[in-house]
Amino acid sequence: MTRHPVLFVGHGSPMNAIEDNVFSRSHAALARLVPRPRAILAVSAHWESDGTFTTLDDPPATIHDFGGFPPQLYAMRYPAPGDPVLARRAAALTGGSAADGRGLDHGTWSILHRMYPAANVPVVQLSLDVRATAGEHLALGRTLAPLRDEGVLILGSGNLTHDLRDAFGRMRRGDASTPDWAARFDADVARALVERDEKWLVQALDTPDGRRAHPTAEHWLPILYAFGASDGRGTASFPLTGFDLGSLSMRCVLFA
Ligand code: ZN
Repeated sequence: MTRHPVLFVGHGSPMNAIEDNVFSRSHAALARLVPRPRAILAVSAHWESDGTFTTLDDPPATIHDFGGFPPQLYAMRYPAPGDPVLARRAAALTGGSAADGRGLDHGTWSILHRMYPAANVPVVQLSLDVRATAGEHLALGRTLAPLRDEGVLILGSGNLTHDLRDAFGRMRRGDASTPDWAARFDADVARALVERDEKWLVQALDTPDGRRAHPTAEHWLPILYAFGASDGRGTASFPLTGFDLGSLSMRCVLFA
């Protein structure tokens, strides 16, 4: 079996799950860029925990972890099977634990329902350990690399710039412009991914633009898992670029 590519997806607003727009169409098209996986291991911004966990649930529930959106979004279900064997294996690789009772959050299902609408590829989620440093998150991603030889798609889901206060402020004002700090940080990340500048990536949120782009780290961390899993060799390309609500980078990264 050939080594599976690794994907990072900018998910943006939950509305992308139900709206037909350039982002949702691009998310759907991502499925054509990778071989059909046997299973998916997703690392989403929306599952933070004390320690590393994987979802043992089969099937995993669909979690609606957002507020103030239309009923249509709460009615969405993504009935993919789980994969308890993969959940235990990923837990063993990362030194974490497999556990029941979580399910899939919208960082995962809003993307997968576009990529694999038939929901027939098993899905396991891996959590973000709130105690880990950036370097440790990257190292955890690296431990997942062997799964790529087993037909598993490793999927990071976050956003390379993510200041919701700024984004919603722009939405209210009808201002779709992209601020300099967002354009600059997004471009700096792209450069670091292409050049495999690991040193820059692990300290990126300590820079002024990094702090501005990520008031909290959770939407940033999934790219560190994707980069780590790409294992020092992957070539980064960008199947989708651009900004939602002005300042939310929707850049997607394919490590092949
Ligand atoms: Zn999100």
